[in-house]
Amino acid sequence: MRKIRTYNEVDHGTGSQLLEQVLEQRARLQERLASVGRVVAVASGKGGVGKSAVTANLAGAMAAQGLRVGVLDADLNGPSLARMLQVRGPPLEDRAHGVVPPTSPHGVKVFSMELLQGQENAPLRWKEPETDTFLWQSSMETTALREFLADVEWGELDFLLVDVPPGTDKIRRLLELVPDPPVALIVSTPAEISRAVVLRSIGLIREAEVPAAGIVANMTEYLCPDCGHRGTLFRGDGIRRLAEESGLNVWARIPFDPSLGEETDAGAPPAGRDPEGLIGRAFAGLVDRLREAPDGSERGPGGEGDPGADESPRTEEPS
Ligand code: ADP
Ligand code: MG
Repeated sequence: MRKIRTYNEVDHGTGSQLLEQVLEQRARLQERLASVGRVVAVASGKGGVGKSAVTANLAGAMAAQGLRVGVLDADLNGPSLARMLQVRGPPLEDRAHGVVPPTSPHGVKVFSMELLQGQENAPLRWKEPETDTFLWQSSMETTALREFLADVEWGELDFLLVDVPPGTDKIRRLLELVPDPPVALIVSTPAEISRAVVLRSIGLIREAEVPAAGIVANMTEYLCPDCGHRGTLFRGDGIRRLAEESGLNVWARIPFDPSLGEETDAGAPPAGRDPEGLIGRAFAGLVDRLREAPDGSERGPGGEGDPGADESPRTEEPS
């Protein structure tokens, strides 16, 4: 039978130094992430469900509690976190130990594709091959993710939130890169169309045996910013079904609140400002879940690596 060699067994005679490069990058990644308490993958599989808005508000809520938090945005198609966390502007500082991530007014360190774009409306100008654009983009995204993890001076962090680009394969890339398994947050709306796609992403997470994962249900109801009335936005029960079919718990329910959208897009995510309000409480509850999330080290011989196996699916309001 043909033996498949690992990187470590590759003959050095080619002169490509592939092995050295791969090992060096891996070592740098490991060293960099050693000062990060926990990596949180904010994923969805589906675009437009509020993944970036959730990431920005979660970061704001964490910073308001005094946690040290960084946000990595590796979305090539729709990078938005530099704007949502108000770090656009000053040129990036490149030091011997890596690029210095700019800090938001809330104290969140941010790195985003957006920071590498020239001006607000300029399209990305990477040298793109004329064919195989899909493959190119896919490998660019992996490269970006790896470099943003390894070559940015994140420093000491309690949490590093990673806004994973939409697409079911993207979460797998992150899982392959990060030495310790991240906590996974799966963002979904109650709309039926998002459920099937999101369910596939959850399948990948299960395969990778992520020790902790939860659903963030976004736009679960409509919150009127004028009178505070809470109404129905989507009529389906997509979240309940998603929780049931995936076995994951719902860790937060975020209403659709026009002010949340406006403020977040303008660079002032509201979650950290009013911890007693409906939005503030939802995100504070999510922070609690992440603080308590098991990291897999307590996994015994019984193999309790099954995310959500600790409780039956819960879909009630976080208190
Ligand atoms: P994604 O990153 O999943 O593509 P975004 O976070 O960019 O989606 O969200 C799309 C738009 O919807 C943004 O303008 C965002 O501010 C807004 N939005 C997301 N969640 C909410 C919410 N709960 N209430 C109001 N607006 C929201
Ligand atoms: Mg986004």
